[in-house]
Amino acid sequence: MSKRVSILLVLVLAGCSAFTRQEIRSEKDFLAMQQSFITSLDDAMARFVHSVPEIENKKQACITRMKEIYDMVLAVPAEQRTFANTMQPLDAVTGFLGEALGAIDFVNMLYPDATMHEAAASATNELRKINEELFSGNKKIYLALVAYLEHGHIKDRLSKEQQYLLDETMAFYKRRGMHLSDESLVKLSTLKNEIDALEKEFSLNIDGDKSSITATRAQLAGMNETVINALEKKDDDCYILRCDYPTASEVQGYCADADTRKRFFEAFGNRAYPANMVVLDKMLNLRDQFAKLLGFDSFAAYEISGEMAKSPERVASFLQQLVSKATAKAGQEVALMKQDLPPGVALDKEGRFNPWDYSYVCSQYKKNHLKIDQREIAEYFPVDTALQGMLNIYQKLLSLSFTVLTPPWAWHEDVRVLEVKNAKTGLLFGYIVLDLYPRPGKYSHACCGMVVSSVYNEKAAAFGGREPGLAVVVANFPRATADKPALFKHADVETFFHEFGHAMHCMMAATALYSHAGYQTKTDFVELPSQIFEEWLYDRDLLKSISSHYKTGEPLPDHLIDALIALKQFDSGQVVLGQVRYAQMSLRYHLAGQNKDTDAIRLELGEQLLPHIAPSYTTHFQANFGHLGGYSSRYYGYLWSQVYALDVFYQLRPRGLVNPATGDWFVAEILGKGGSKDPNDMLKSFLGREPSIDAFFQDLGLH
Ligand SMILES: [Zn+2]
Repeated sequence: MSKRVSILLVLVLAGCSAFTRQEIRSEKDFLAMQQSFITSLDDAMARFVHSVPEIENKKQACITRMKEIYDMVLAVPAEQRTFANTMQPLDAVTGFLGEALGAIDFVNMLYPDATMHEAAASATNELRKINEELFSGNKKIYLALVAYLEHGHIKDRLSKEQQYLLDETMAFYKRRGMHLSDESLVKLSTLKNEIDALEKEFSLNIDGDKSSITATRAQLAGMNETVINALEKKDDDCYILRCDYPTASEVQGYCADADTRKRFFEAFGNRAYPANMVVLDKMLNLRDQFAKLLGFDSFAAYEISGEMAKSPERVASFLQQLVSKATAKAGQEVALMKQDLPPGVALDKEGRFNPWDYSYVCSQYKKNHLKIDQREIAEYFPVDTALQGMLNIYQKLLSLSFTVLTPPWAWHEDVRVLEVKNAKTGLLFGYIVLDLYPRPGKYSHACCGMVVSSVYNEKAAAFGGREPGLAVVVANFPRATADKPALFKHADVETFFHEFGHAMHCMMAATALYSHAGYQTKTDFVELPSQIFEEWLYDRDLLKSISSHYKTGEPLPDHLIDALIALKQFDSGQVVLGQVRYAQMSLRYHLAGQNKDTDAIRLELGEQLLPHIAPSYTTHFQANFGHLGGYSSRYYGYLWSQVYALDVFYQLRPRGLVNPATGDWFVAEILGKGGSKDPNDMLKSFLGREPSIDAFFQDLGLH
């Protein structure tokens, strides 16, 4: 059963019925679900699990099917191998395993109950482990593919997408060392386990860091009253400043007391120090050995070989191009800021900012000269109107029609579901679950996840030949207070538009294979569509169309829009150089060689790229640079995808940002392709030329 109401109504009124589900589905029920596709809201919600026994049953159904497929693939004689009996079944595993992991992972993020969290975490760990044993880490599967390449491949007439999957899968197994001798493979696997353990330790040391400083009320002058009042206190006039990001941005941007800023900077920059220095050194050495064993020159070469960028050399030259333009602009920005130093800030003997003063000077300059007040802007974005406005943009641009439904049951009464249909044909694209408001025990950031992926399937004729998909968008937007409705900051509006962009990637991508569905693209490309959508929110007309002052109903006035655009460009030179520094650190730590001096590299990059800030010898950012764990050498991906997002955006914009023809073109060349094509080719085909950095330079005023 589903309830249909207008978007506006439903988003304003939180649901009042409690959704519960009594019935417990068995392993057999979940197995049957794997073989079918979603046709209704009930079907969509049935993919989620609502009790510990259901988590267990869904997991078990997935394991049963994985084992069946494993036996089936290995039973085929070498000379009879075809794409259909060797590669296709492996692709099917990607589909139903992804669905099980997605559905169970969301339990972990969204359910309030700790028992459910534990059961979900243990189930997804087990599924990942079994997938590793049976498929991704299993040499027998690799050899089955080698046999297919030797025997069946010539006879098979593969589509471009099938051939791409085959090439990518072989490259994946080579990166896993499957072509090596069994002896080397054992060595590799030992190294991999050691590296995994170190990565875990590295991130636990950061998450578990409890550093803080204390300060009196007077020493917090300049900071926001609400933030100060929310701080823990040791006694009457002794506040505790913990080293978390919200506190850091408030202290470093607004605290007028230089000594407080300095003490906080030292504590923040030494999180997980010295513990992580040893962990990092070991991790970098082992990664280097791991890559060498696989025949790569360095860990960066090993990792980036599987990405859009393809090689560390290409990344380095990309970063260098950014540096040459950003340096000139940063020089002008610094000169301006030096002309108006806030009271209590002094430069060092060489005319450089102290590292603890730099963010403060920057934010004070913006406050005094750009006159931008994010709280004033927020008054123009009451949550309900802004959400509806944003959904309208997506509907018009992509020729979709959204209906908000109240699901028959869900984990919380705030949950709503968008039914997404083709506005012209009425065909169902899928469902997007929206869980947008904070509550205790819920994941505290914003994200989007794909649960069921859309692929072509001749059995789905009633849905235009493609299986409807299922995605979830999670956010933590403000709720209304007694005297004000819930208001979005401009950054919140951007966040929703960004995450919803991922959901659109899930809905619009139509591929033949599960492995390429939705946003399953290269890591350095996956953010590109969402980053393109963020640019919509700097367009004057669009900003006006989604804003409405909560008291007067007036749209966002021109002077505030001008200020938003000016803000984007004001310190773009320094922002880009700061990002290049992080990207260079992550890259250089992973170039060939043992026993790198991580402090020396960090300091050298600081002096090279940000010479206007005095070096910090007493802090150790590399000990708490969390990306070195999971992203390792690939921090460049943020800048990389932003640069190419702008290149694409500048082509789309002249055609009209809510013009369905613009949407059609974007879907045909990029959004609809999912991961079925090398992103380098995708961009070239869309742009009709090689991708370029010019739009990025123009957008950020870096001419
Ligand atoms: Zn994203």
